[in-house]
Amino acid sequence: MEREANVLIIGGGVSGTGLAYNLAKLGVEGIVLLERNYLGSGASGRCGGGARQQWTTEENVKFMKKSIEILERLPQELKFNILFRQSGYLFLARDEEQLNLLKENVRLHRKLGVETRFLDAEEAREIVPVLNTEGILGATYNPKDGVLFPFALVWGYAKAAKRLGAKIYLHTEARGFKIENGRIKSVFTDKGEIKVKEWVVNAAGAYSKELARKAGVELPNKPYRHEIMVTEPLKLFIKPMVVDLSNGLYMTQTSRGEVIGGIGDPEEESSYNLESGHKFLYLFSRAAIRVIPILKEIRLMRQWAGLYDTTPDKNPILGPVDEVENFLQINGYSGHGLMMAPYATQLLAELIAYGKPSESIERFSIRRFREGEIKAEKAVIG
Ligand SMILES: Cc1cc2nc3c(=O)[nH]c(=O)nc-3n(C[C@H](O)[C@H](O)[C@H](O)COP(=O)(O)OP(=O)(O)OC[C@H]3O[C@@H](n4cnc5c(N)ncnc54)[C@H](O)[C@@H]3O)c2cc1C
Repeated sequence: MEREANVLIIGGGVSGTGLAYNLAKLGVEGIVLLERNYLGSGASGRCGGGARQQWTTEENVKFMKKSIEILERLPQELKFNILFRQSGYLFLARDEEQLNLLKENVRLHRKLGVETRFLDAEEAREIVPVLNTEGILGATYNPKDGVLFPFALVWGYAKAAKRLGAKIYLHTEARGFKIENGRIKSVFTDKGEIKVKEWVVNAAGAYSKELARKAGVELPNKPYRHEIMVTEPLKLFIKPMVVDLSNGLYMTQTSRGEVIGGIGDPEEESSYNLESGHKFLYLFSRAAIRVIPILKEIRLMRQWAGLYDTTPDKNPILGPVDEVENFLQINGYSGHGLMMAPYATQLLAELIAYGKPSESIERFSIRRFREGEIKAEKAVIG
């Protein structure tokens, strides 16, 4: 194992592998990534795979427009098929408040060059013919949104990073830091010490808070379990990611045809619990069958859980911290790190390689929680 790194990345999810790739692409040498389990073993390999431009704030619409553009060209760039299917996100509104939010979104998106369309219930059914339109007041659809295979994104990034010289060590855990004069000098792992010349990056997902604490840094992030399931595989009949704004239900079909979907539980408390439960099945099935009644005929095959690494404004933390000079954060994405990581990892790599990213990441600074006003998204789903 390498005993010295210029940039040491902790975490082998989409953030860690995406950053390793983007750094290597910019010619940065001495990149070492540590993953204590296997690649994608955290939230990245447990997620729904959705990527959308439909957001409620101007900043995130613009950010995700860039991220989707990257996803469109990544298969060629990485020489790896990430199975990105751009068949849209369909948001459904069931009351006036949700309807107004969608109408506002359409105005905002169009102003920013994002082609979201407002649809009535019948038009929504043209996109998903098995949709139950009862109770649906309106919908929005953006054909550029889509779903991808999350493991493929992580594997593709990791493979390309390795091809360009990055070293990736699996089953290797970062356990502590040697800090002198406000700088991390080395990282202690279960396989020995690694000296660090430049940066240490905390890409440990929901475990970032624990890791940061070992360096004396307090992050505001909290872990929340989020459950998800897949059914038996079927011919494609739900092309877009369908989202019910009334309860946060989301579902689509994977490239293998399984219906995949999840729903948040408003009573879930912060914890590291990764167990699967019956309550989720009850909440999900009821909500899903209301939207697509034919689903009651279909067999559920598997359910699992992952952790949302949640910040107070549901936006990620990117960049340096005040307490430790060379400790960068890329975590706290809440329920949407898979889709944000392609652009977030590019910007953080530019910060490391050039000292300045091509677009400011100041709004993602941890300082926003200590000073200033926090601007949260109005609708947060997976
Ligand atoms: C059920 C579910 C559905 C979701 N759906 C979507 C979706 O549709 N679209 C979307 O954009 N996002 C979705 N998300 C969120 C998304 O999965 C995450 O935001 C994203 O994967 C975070 O990636 P990451 O690399 O930052 O963290 P992770 O993927 O969690 O990776 C962190 C890695 O760090 C490793 N690690 C931790 N501590 C250490 C240590 N001390 N030493 C070494 N390694 C360590 C872990 O083992 C882990 O592999 C969903 C999440 C869940 C749970």
